Amino acid sequence: MERLQKIMARAGVASRRKCEELIAAGRVKVNGEVIRTLGFKADPERDEIEVDGQKIVLEKHVYFLLNKPVGYITSVTDPQGRKTVLDLMEHVKERIYPVGRLDYDTSGLLLLTNDGAFANRIMHPRHELDKVYEAVVKGRIGEEALMRLCKGVMLEDGMTAPAQAERLSYDERNRRSAIRLTIHEGRNRQVRRMCEAVGHPVLKLKRVRLGFLTLDGVPEGKYRPLTKEEVDGLL
Ligand code: URA
Repeated sequence: MERLQKIMARAGVASRRKCEELIAAGRVKVNGEVIRTLGFKADPERDEIEVDGQKIVLEKHVYFLLNKPVGYITSVTDPQGRKTVLDLMEHVKERIYPVGRLDYDTSGLLLLTNDGAFANRIMHPRHELDKVYEAVVKGRIGEEALMRLCKGVMLEDGMTAPAQAERLSYDERNRRSAIRLTIHEGRNRQVRRMCEAVGHPVLKLKRVRLGFLTLDGVPEGKYRPLTKEEVDGLL
């Protein structure tokens, strides 16, 4: 059960405040009866809600995990006409949007949903979901730089929180290192800025895990719905 004005707002009727006014004005019916009580709760799945005689249609909440390729902007529209991650979500009818952001030139795990409360909770730093990245950086990254990444790096917008960092391999010929970095924040271009700050600019970046979610079984450019257990497990 959910407050009537909240259900109406979720269906895109108007803001919650404006919906309260519509209820008070007697313009809203639940199962054929005019409801003027502001605290009234309805069942969005079963009750028939009408505003000015028009039945409202509530979108089901949907959740997807996308394996984003490089070259797509994490946004619903782009004024410059670049491809957006929504161009990859072909058969999704609901009005979904990305949860957080991956840079245009970053690939990997991105969630999309039409559930605003879910998106806010996932993105809140207090939630402390692991965000695991694999990066290829310039040069041979050593223990000292890795330690600095772990302890915290001073960026323009302050010190980064403790993280985990390890070197996976070193490519002698091209003088580049592969690293895995786990962070719990989501500042703008954070991994790129952290690596740059320790003297190893990022050449390639991919998010490989978010909490317990991985890219297993999802090829690049493809997506899959989250299971109910996964959605519940993230909250
Ligand atoms: N950190 C970055 O620098 N870029 C991303 O896309 C994600 C995390």
